[in-house]
Amino acid sequence: MKAKFGIHWFRQDLRIENNPSLISLSEKVQQVIPIYIFDTNQRIGSVSKWWLEKSISSLSLNISKHGGKLNIFMGQPEKIISSIIKEEKFDLFSWNRLYDPYSINRDTKIKSLISTAKIECESHNGYLLNEPWNIKNKSGSFFKVFTPYWRNCDQVIKSNKLKKNNVKICFAKIKINKEINIEELNLTTNNKKWLKKIEKNWHPGEINAQKKLKLYILDKANNYSNGRDRPDKDFTSKLSPHLHFGEISPFQVYHDIQNDKKINILNKNKFLAELGWRDFSYNLLYHYPTMISKPIQNKFNKFPWIKNNKHLNLWQKGITGIPIVDAGMRQLYKTGWMHNRVRMIVGSFLTKNLLLHWKHGEEWFFDTLVDADVGSNSAGWQWISGCGADASPYFRIFNPILQGQKFDPNGDYVREFVPELKKIPTKYIHNPWQMPLIDQETYKFKIGENYPSPVVDLKETRERALSAFKTIN
Ligand SMILES: Cc1cc2nc3c(=O)[nH]c(=O)nc-3n(C[C@H](O)[C@H](O)[C@H](O)COP(=O)(O)OP(=O)(O)OC[C@H]3O[C@@H](n4cnc5c(N)ncnc54)[C@H](O)[C@@H]3O)c2cc1C
Repeated sequence: MKAKFGIHWFRQDLRIENNPSLISLSEKVQQVIPIYIFDTNQRIGSVSKWWLEKSISSLSLNISKHGGKLNIFMGQPEKIISSIIKEEKFDLFSWNRLYDPYSINRDTKIKSLISTAKIECESHNGYLLNEPWNIKNKSGSFFKVFTPYWRNCDQVIKSNKLKKNNVKICFAKIKINKEINIEELNLTTNNKKWLKKIEKNWHPGEINAQKKLKLYILDKANNYSNGRDRPDKDFTSKLSPHLHFGEISPFQVYHDIQNDKKINILNKNKFLAELGWRDFSYNLLYHYPTMISKPIQNKFNKFPWIKNNKHLNLWQKGITGIPIVDAGMRQLYKTGWMHNRVRMIVGSFLTKNLLLHWKHGEEWFFDTLVDADVGSNSAGWQWISGCGADASPYFRIFNPILQGQKFDPNGDYVREFVPELKKIPTKYIHNPWQMPLIDQETYKFKIGENYPSPVVDLKETRERALSAFKTIN
């Protein structure tokens, strides 16, 4: 005989399909009471707040279509769950696991609180393909380098089956004391004008995530291997915010791509490996829990970073005078997303040419990205600034002119986000300061007037970065 009620605590798993905790609860209890707690102590960026509000609205609607009610709370989960334990009758409490140090610490305390109340508490993996403690090298330690890590993961994933909703999920229509409306979370009261612009580009929610994956497989997945590095094309999936908020299961993405007969093996493998980087980031964060704020390689604690608010501000606003950098930073502010290749270019420029601490970049991205994620973002910044575990070597300093010419060869990406350069001939689109005066006159464009001169000299700052690097070696 099934117990009557169990509680599922939604966190970064804002979906009903392929949700291991919901599936497991439904096998054990007659009705699932769904709750969401906006944890006021957890770090969240401005744009993520906007996405979260839309995503919870959509989940709440979906649950009501299934005959249930999502109970929303705001505050400290420990206190809220303690009061739910006192007031409601239920036999089981369940969630899908998270892997950042703040969540691990919080969830450990909550697990013990629930067990003390003699209520069964379980947790599941609904967020990653492989949990960080599962993948070990021959000596029993964790991997610090992606390629061997992924080789090992891939074997494990292939042998795992996608958990599907084979049981009917019956949501309870119970209203718990002190639950609130989504609007009361006040997630989007600030920055309304800015968020309106971002809104045009995205459709949060589980149903939209499913549609996006289907369309991606149908239309674009076969261009991934060749096209994924081109910011002027639209060949990546843009699934990252949906994956971050758990609106779609990474297992489903993996299996749907893997099992599609029309996608060729090259594109499949490249895409799945990129999905693997998401897991790898959490593998690193789990084993280096301080990596959100501290370099994995200790020697970078002594690195002579420069303090320069003026340069940081120009970088954030996308007015550095380096077209591909400015295009990326403006794409980010306008749409809440930036192409992966350009994330690397702007990251290299910030930490190597401007010599500003990678943490400034991490924080700005975290506030402005729709896919802001503690794991992938800190791993991305440590990688590009050279201080991570499997990092791009510090001395590999991207030349933004050559990067632009290679990955945005016609300048379409720059022209889209830096309209001041719209009429500049392709030959100078990535280096307008090198355009002869006579051409500047022809095109009615004056460097320093219509568009800024470069904020720093690329050659000199490259040399400066290499010298700074020598001081810690
Ligand atoms: C400095 C820096 C910061 C970054 N910050 C974030 C972040 O906060 N959140 C985030 O999700 N990604 C981050 N990335 C990784 C990557 O840029 C994005 O995941 C990718 O651009 C998302 O676009 P997409 O969904 O079209 O990717 P696709 O190319 O379609 O890839 C499919 C999925 O694989 C995962 N993925 C792809 N590349 C990476 C990668 N290098 N690292 C981790 N996961 C990856 C994402 O979940 C992505 O949705 C960062 C990269 C850098 C260099």
